[in-house]
Amino acid sequence: MRDKHKLAIHGGQPVRERYLPYGRQWIDEDDVQAVVDVLRGDYLTTGPELARFEQSIASYVGAKYAVAFANGTAALHAACYAAGISPGDEVITTAITFAATANCILYQGGIPVFADIEPRTCNVDPQSISDLITEKTKAIIPVDYTGQPVDLDAIRKIAADYNLVVIEDAAHALGATYKGQKIGSLSDMTMFSFHPVKQITTGEGGVITTNSTDYYEKLLQFRTHGITRDPTKLSLPGGPWYYEMQFLGLNYRLTDMQAALGTSQLQKIDRFIRRRQTYAGIYNAAFQPLRQLRLPYQSQDGVSSWHLYIIRLNLDQLTVGRREIFEALQQENIGVNVHYLPVYWHPYYQKLGYKKGLCPNAETLYEEMITLPLYAAMTERDVQDVITGVKKVVAHFAR
Ligand SMILES: *Cc1c(COP(=O)(O)O)cnc(C)c1O
Repeated sequence: MRDKHKLAIHGGQPVRERYLPYGRQWIDEDDVQAVVDVLRGDYLTTGPELARFEQSIASYVGAKYAVAFANGTAALHAACYAAGISPGDEVITTAITFAATANCILYQGGIPVFADIEPRTCNVDPQSISDLITEKTKAIIPVDYTGQPVDLDAIRKIAADYNLVVIEDAAHALGATYKGQKIGSLSDMTMFSFHPVKQITTGEGGVITTNSTDYYEKLLQFRTHGITRDPTKLSLPGGPWYYEMQFLGLNYRLTDMQAALGTSQLQKIDRFIRRRQTYAGIYNAAFQPLRQLRLPYQSQDGVSSWHLYIIRLNLDQLTVGRREIFEALQQENIGVNVHYLPVYWHPYYQKLGYKKGLCPNAETLYEEMITLPLYAAMTERDVQDVITGVKKVVAHFAR
């Protein structure tokens, strides 16, 4: 029997035999059946399942409208179009997010402006947003990072003062609440993603929820090439076959197979989120005594849907850096990750001229953080394995 304290990276027995990913889907037989039923039916796309899914999402988050897209990135692109983002417009977003949050601004010719994070919640700091506003600022894209709602009251106040559109990137936050209200109807437009690591999945998929009829109509038309068949909107009189392309949109549609999967998944969301919350609580309790770690701070204003569980390393309490801790955990077969590189550190953004040092809090977070596995389909045994692995590695490298 090999020493169970010896790290796998040093030739010891790994905590887990099989690799545990940081996130993955939970698909049951009824989800499979929902997709198969569509495959045997009449419509594979733009059929009744799409409308049904959109209504289910709108009703779940308490918004008037939902428009589904091929993926969350497409949904963000459409929202930027609907918000009227045009070449030269500045849009303020957070430095710590997936690249798509900023890329959607570039798709419209806009200029991403990166605000720093608030060091406790790691969400975008409203003060940093205020400091960056110019005459060219058109919109704000805050992110509910890790599933914890951003300070929406402060952001909506800034938006009202400067007449800005708020497009909330809630890719992490389906099912989260802010001051008792579900995320999804609190901003001008809200985006959710249905990538397999998110709370529910359609394979690829995304949605914009909104209470605005104007945005709703623009989103629908953008999703299908900029085409409309609505007789009240046509500029020329045509026959019953007639439709018009009125602006340059894309084909960003979600299929009916995916929509049916989404509707089936959405029925389980409460259980999915409860399990994520329970596991986050188990992690918190287990890691509380470790002085080498800082646990995810939660504001009293919201309830997180726990897309990600992120620990921060107190590097002065450790004999090695983040890289060594990360590699040691990987070798224990714990699927750790880092979310995210500050967006403007990506080579593409560096070439656009963004300089390192722009958002000091974001850069510090990036150097210290590690994402631990967290998803509904994990078992309590998996959670305990992660805890065992983290304790083993941290104890080995404790100063
Ligand atoms: C997942 C995600 C998106 C959208 O991703 P898609 O893979 O295109 O659905 C956007 N922003 C954030 C923060 C995300 O995590």
